[in-house]
Amino acid sequence: MSYAAITSSVIEELQAICGRDHVVFDDEKKLKKYSRDQVPEDKYARLPEVVVMPRSAREVAAIMKLANRETIPVTPRAAGSGLSGGAVPIYGGILLSIERMNAILEIDTANLMAVVEPGVVTNQLDAALKPYGLFFAGYPMSEEFCFIGGNVAENAGGGRAIKYGVTGRYIRGLEVVTPTGDIVQLGGKRVKDVTGYDLVSLMVGSEGTLGIFTKIVVKLLPRPNARVAVLSLFRDAEAAIAVVPEIVTAGKLIPAAIEFMDHFSFSMAARSLQETFPYDQIGAVLLFEVDGSDNGLVRAEAETIRRICEHRGAIEQHLADTEQSIERLWKIRKQIPWAIKRYTPHQSIEDIVVPMAAIAALLPKLDEIGRRFQTQIPVFGHAGDGNLHATPMKNPEHTLEHWDRMLPDLLTDMYRTTARLGGTISGEHGIGHKRRDFMGLVMEDAQLDMMRKIKLALDPQNILNPGKVVAI
Ligand SMILES: Cc1cc2nc3c(=O)[nH]c(=O)nc-3n(C[C@H](O)[C@H](O)[C@H](O)COP(=O)(O)OP(=O)(O)OC[C@H]3O[C@@H](n4cnc5c(N)ncnc54)[C@H](O)[C@@H]3O)c2cc1C
Repeated sequence: MSYAAITSSVIEELQAICGRDHVVFDDEKKLKKYSRDQVPEDKYARLPEVVVMPRSAREVAAIMKLANRETIPVTPRAAGSGLSGGAVPIYGGILLSIERMNAILEIDTANLMAVVEPGVVTNQLDAALKPYGLFFAGYPMSEEFCFIGGNVAENAGGGRAIKYGVTGRYIRGLEVVTPTGDIVQLGGKRVKDVTGYDLVSLMVGSEGTLGIFTKIVVKLLPRPNARVAVLSLFRDAEAAIAVVPEIVTAGKLIPAAIEFMDHFSFSMAARSLQETFPYDQIGAVLLFEVDGSDNGLVRAEAETIRRICEHRGAIEQHLADTEQSIERLWKIRKQIPWAIKRYTPHQSIEDIVVPMAAIAALLPKLDEIGRRFQTQIPVFGHAGDGNLHATPMKNPEHTLEHWDRMLPDLLTDMYRTTARLGGTISGEHGIGHKRRDFMGLVMEDAQLDMMRKIKLALDPQNILNPGKVVAI
């Protein structure tokens, strides 16, 4: 792929579109901030030539028209919390940050919809909805710092997907700037709409390759006012995982969350928070949350979970029923990616997903892969929806060259194993450029070809976020 370099006249045009204060091009320290997302290894990073921070759809459209005229790649970026390199400008060019488009435009309580700009921090929307007794259910666990625009582009899913589903379920309308610079309104506040192709769904999860969202219509739900969390410690992973289907079938309930943490993940995170547990006895831990509007019912469901876990051999259980004590338990789970990142930058947080009942078969196979490649693979994630963050880490006794050479083979093995169990390579973090070249392991050529045709129909010059999702 060949793109034009940024010239001083392009910079001047960008300044005329966005204002001089919102174009960064000669300050390496500032540019560096936009060179990576949360994928830790340097090989996935790249400095943009220029960063622009438009304030409106009209400005975004003007930037896309200019980029098409000059053949300059444009990479959209929200908060940069992604875990697949999606917001990294791998061909340099223009980095389009949506950070200034951060207004909550409307909370429509009559239609149970909110209209927001893409740069709203996900948790800020939640805080704004709280006084109305409403919430946006499809948010990820990075909600304190990620943006709604990034959530829609990744079709993020979080700890609560087993009950509430993922972001896409709640996106009803989008204002989109197309890769060639048109502004289109897709969907709206309608709950039902079968008028033509479902372009809203096509855009959701398109990882910034098919359009730039400038306005988002989000469906809201009544906020559950009763919540209880249960933390159950088990001697081994098999016993813990056996509980998951039993909760749903024998317990006849769907918790809001069922999170799995293996010994390494849980101990690292909990110890870093100075929490005390019988670490030497723990093989795996489950964190459940149940929620609803009836306090009595929610408590009864939590008790059912506690009983099933006890029956399955839980060695210790902790019940939390206040906002503070529930958040304390979640903090351990949320700390895991940071604890692993602190432990080593040479790791690869993966995002494999299998049908829920296949987790029991997947875990021993991950162990086997770790042994074969002589490296540790901590596992944590959303057991309730089959989405596990298996995280191969560099063996301290191996050289960096060995790790770099061996990781693609390890990942190929892991992805093939996942596919054989009916799974695939990403449940929520997306493909970006980190996983792009593995797509052929889980998709037929004809399917990849459909994706290429869609991309090129909308973006004939491959200007918008090139090099991501599917090789052109
Ligand atoms: C600690 C931690 C926990 C996490 N937990 C979860 C989790 O539970 N579930 C989950 O799904 N993910 C999780 N993630 C990953 C990440 O937070 C999500 O993918 C999130 O949705 C990305 O949002 P962002 O605002 O940071 O987007 P960015 O990383 O900035 O961008 C992500 C993608 O969106 C595109 N994009 C950005 N803005 C727009 C726009 N306006 N229009 C079109 N495309 C756009 C970018 O080009 C890029 O491809 C976690 C990450 C971390 C670090």
